[in-house]
This record gives sequence, C-alpha cells and structure tokens, in this order.
Amino acid sequence: MASDHGIIAKGEWHKANSSQAMEAELREEEGRVTALSDGQVFAFAVLGRVEFSQRVGSIPRRVTFPDGSVFETRDNDAVDAYLRARHGVRSGIIHRLEEFHPRLIVFTIAVILLGMSIYRYALPALVEVAVLVTPPFVPEMIGSGTLASLDRTVLKPSELPEAQQRKFAEGFSKLAARSKGGEAAYKLNFRDGGVIGPNAFALPDGNLILTDDLVKLAGSDEEMVLGVLGHEIAHVEGEHSLRQLYRAAGVAGLVMLIAGDVGSGVEDILTQGGTLLALSYSRSAEAEADRRSVELMNAGGYDPAALARFFAILEDKLGDHGKTNMLSSHPGTPERQQDIRAYAAEIKGRPQP
Ligand SMILES: [Zn+2]
Repeated sequence: MASDHGIIAKGEWHKANSSQAMEAELREEEGRVTALSDGQVFAFAVLGRVEFSQRVGSIPRRVTFPDGSVFETRDNDAVDAYLRARHGVRSGIIHRLEEFHPRLIVFTIAVILLGMSIYRYALPALVEVAVLVTPPFVPEMIGSGTLASLDRTVLKPSELPEAQQRKFAEGFSKLAARSKGGEAAYKLNFRDGGVIGPNAFALPDGNLILTDDLVKLAGSDEEMVLGVLGHEIAHVEGEHSLRQLYRAAGVAGLVMLIAGDVGSGVEDILTQGGTLLALSYSRSAEAEADRRSVELMNAGGYDPAALARFFAILEDKLGDHGKTNMLSSHPGTPERQQDIRAYAAEIKGRPQP
C-alpha cells in the first residue's frame, strides 16, 4: 500500500458519451483527482469538481469528471474508505444537500412566509368559498349532532312553564318571519342550561337554544330575551358559526371540506357539542348580529334596543366570572350597548319592509 500512495481504487474509465472502457486507476494527490493508466492521464480535476455516486449495494461506483467522462469501480469499500478519510467530500445526495444548504434555508423561510400569507389572505377567501359550496346537509349534520351531544352531556329538559314557552315562541316566530329564510328556517328549543347557565346560542341549521337560566336572569323583561334571540337569528343568517368552524379547521381542513371529503373524524369534531360552544364569533360578526337584532326587533314591533338592556344586566349580574357563560362569548361592553342604542335610535320610526 505504501507504494500505492494516492491510489483510491482500480476500475475502468469511460470517455464521455462512449461505451468504450479503458482499464484505469483513480488517484488523488493534493486535492487533484486523476483517472490514469500506466502514466497516461485520461481525466483530471480538482477534488471539489468530481462527483462520487452514492453507494447502492454492490452496484459499481461512478466517479464523474467535469468533462463528462466517468471512472467506474466495483471496489465500493475502497471508495468509502477514501471518502471517510477525506471528510468534506461526501457522495451523492448528501454532497448535493450540503451544496444546497443556503438555498434550503431561503426556501424554508419562503415556505413559512407563504404559509403565513395563506393564513392572512387565502384563508378568509377559502372560508367564503367553503361557506358557498357547503351543501345543506352539513349545517344540518352539525346542528343535529351538536344538539344531540349537548342533550346527552350538559343540557336538561326545560322547566319553563308552558305558557311562558309559548309566549317566547310567538315572539320568536315574529322575528324569524322577518329574517332570511323565514319562519320555517328557525326553531326555538328550550332547555335547562346546567353548567352553561344563562345562555342562548344558535346552531348553523337554524336551531336556537334558549336556557331557562337566561329567562330567569331577564326576570320580567321578556322583551330583552327576544332581543337576544334576534341576535342569535342573525348569527344563523350570517352563517357565522360555519365561518368560525371553517376558520378553525384551517387550510388543510378546508381543502378537505371543499373537496367533499367529510370523513368520520371531521364529522365527529363538527358534531361534538363542545366544538361550537368553544368557538367565539369574531367581533365583526357580533357587531353585525347586534345590528340585525335591532332591525328585527324594530320590524317585529318591539323595543329595538332591548338587547342593550340584556347586556347591561349580564354584566351587572355575572361580572366577568366564569368562562362558559354567555358573557365570555358575548362581552357586553358599555361601547357595545351604546352602539346598539345609537343604531336603535337611528332606525326607530324608519319605514320597515
Ligand atoms: Zn353573538
């Protein structure tokens, strides 16, 4: 071996684009790689410009020179031993990955930025597309699934006297009749709220749930309960809960939904009672629902600002305690009450369609 200093392996050298093979040996001295035989040099290059193929089993190793000529050897072990000794020279893919490194970092940053802009700009657009292409069975599935699940877990049958239920149902029908989809698109359900306490919420299929606790909280002011129901009707009209769900589903979930692939896993999540309740509406959705409540109440011949009274009571009686109550999902800030009153004053007396 001592006399063979510099030799890497013996094999064959192939001229570029030629099948002709010459017996040759591969040597490396002071960073210069040479394919030669009996002192005749066939190809040479500096080490960095020579490419060693990756080892794949016992397939002959190829060492490619910049001129396109190739040295081929079956002595994989010798090539490996040489490459190990010369760290810094890696074979095949590893070698290329290392060359690629700075570009890889740039690429990764670009992907992250792209992902962020998808969330910022494309997600809202995807949400709108998803809402548009949502077939009716989806809100129905979410609605009935959620209600069934809540009935199994937190809600109990209402103990509200039937006469009172009827009164609310009548007022509710008046509001529903003025809203998108008409009376038939909505249904009011009475329940004992259990741990969710004073609450009213809408499911995307038009089912509204009103808890006894909220009715009790309102006391004799039944009109303000109607104001709340008007607000909830508006959430259905504006498909706000679908939007919230879709936003929460993220880009991957949305692509699945739009593609019509509502697997059982997705269905489970969508119909779990907690999912809808855990999501809170966006501030703009809340403001929109407040204004719609004012409009619907006014159209139904009720005090359009009744909802503001409700928020005042809610804040007064519940404070900011508890995470599951109506207040946490509907912060009744003074500004909000003020906006409701201002809009009510604005449309009062305005001719209604
Ligand atoms: Zn709301």
